[in-house]
Amino acid sequence: MSDEFLNVQLLISGKWQDAADGRTLPVHDPATGETIGKIAHASKTDLALAAEGAAKGFEAWRTLTAWDRFVIMRRAANLLRERAESIARIMSREQGKPLAQALAEIDGAAGVIEYFGEEGRRLNDVLVPPRVANVEQRVLHRPVGVVAAFTPWNFPINQIARKLGAALGAGCAVIVKAPEDTPASPAELLRVFLDAGIPAGAVSLVYGDPAEISEYLIAHPVVRKISFTGSTPVGKHLASLAGAQMKPVTMELGGHAPVIVCADADLDAAAERLAAAKFRNAGQVCIAPTRFLLEQSIAPTFVDKFKARMSALKIGRGVDDGVTMGPLVNSRRVKALQELVEDARANGATVWHPDTALPNGGCFFPPTLIQNPDLSMRVMQEEPFGPLAIVSEFTSLTDAVKEANRLPYGLAAYVYTRNERTQRLLGEQVEAGMVAVNHHGIGVPEVPFGGIKDSGYGTEGGPEALRAHTYIKLVSSEQA
Ligand code: NAD
Repeated sequence: MSDEFLNVQLLISGKWQDAADGRTLPVHDPATGETIGKIAHASKTDLALAAEGAAKGFEAWRTLTAWDRFVIMRRAANLLRERAESIARIMSREQGKPLAQALAEIDGAAGVIEYFGEEGRRLNDVLVPPRVANVEQRVLHRPVGVVAAFTPWNFPINQIARKLGAALGAGCAVIVKAPEDTPASPAELLRVFLDAGIPAGAVSLVYGDPAEISEYLIAHPVVRKISFTGSTPVGKHLASLAGAQMKPVTMELGGHAPVIVCADADLDAAAERLAAAKFRNAGQVCIAPTRFLLEQSIAPTFVDKFKARMSALKIGRGVDDGVTMGPLVNSRRVKALQELVEDARANGATVWHPDTALPNGGCFFPPTLIQNPDLSMRVMQEEPFGPLAIVSEFTSLTDAVKEANRLPYGLAAYVYTRNERTQRLLGEQVEAGMVAVNHHGIGVPEVPFGGIKDSGYGTEGGPEALRAHTYIKLVSSEQA
């Protein structure tokens, strides 16, 4: 069933439907270039209906009890788990990632939805003791309203699950503008909510021209909050549109994560974990380690171990057995990566990749190591968003921290050291929204997930993510 030609429709007022004007866009398999489906391209008529439906969906959803919302969200999470195999196959075909990674993503998304459903039950109001007798001061947290959520193609399900989870858990309705490159697995995610019994319009799904949709929805009076994951330039643009409308935003943007590997680190564990984190999803991950800063004395040893890991990658179609790295999502990304590597080479970098042959056709790009970089290279300034690691050496921790903090990005950062003092020091000094020491487990639902500086603001994990979908209100009454 999941290898059928995909026909992805819009979800408006609880009903799957084609675009009002019948327009569609093709969906491609990035591993072969083949057209594997089509999606409905929303027009302004569809967007107006989606906003109207979401307003009704919000009324129905917010007036349920927190317990009833939790029950529906838990059911949706369980349905997602039950359907994981077939949804993973769809995701792997349209996005390219290996099946095992698609399955892990879906399982993670189910956990996120369940967590925010539970957290919604703990959105307690507060009674503040008064300064004068007979006054009662109630502080209420109430859902902001309809949220417009814009999500990218690298984690087609999990990026939506974080936004949906936090918004629904708080009692908001959501219009999702999912990625046109990978539209079918998001539709399956929305389907589990419908099948779990969510009121019509509490979740909606649209596709089309991203700029047209964001401009329309951000300005629409029904929409009260904006949430975006994607590149920094687009994030800044959307934040300015939202600012003009006085609407709050959550922005999860790009990164250029530094990794500091100290001489006392467990180098085998570091090479293994860093290679897994770097080449997961072919490096198309906002928190992927990118600038490898190696203490000089261990740099050659680490590089050898890391190269061995790169050589062991099995590159191919994500749906094929044993594949550990798939293609990039589209030919635009291949061109962007080629240009960055050529620029680095032209400016004196040493470029290495394993001899592994790439499959013919499709959007494959080799795992690539860049050595001897300097700051004139574009790759040292711009997020590569692909399977590319840049290696340089340091002799003093102060210099490593300076380099780690050099860029305007501040999303994730990694440190490998056995020394607890260094762990704490770097945890404080590295400017990033998330610092992981000796491991990469920073994506769990209970903890903050987000960046600082040009990597955005707001968080997509923990109770704060839920609260960001509420407004705070004081009701102060004097008893007669
Ligand atoms: P892009 O900036 O064109 O698009 C990124 C995402 O934003 C896509 O899903 C796209 O549909 C959406 N988008 C673009 N313009 C929009 C608009 N005006 N309104 C609403 N949505 C809009 O980049 P791309 O070529 O698709 O991806 C490459 C870059 O995007 C990467 O270099 C990376 O920085 C960034 N990116 C980041 C993440 C992340 O997880 N933070 C995920 C995917 C892409």
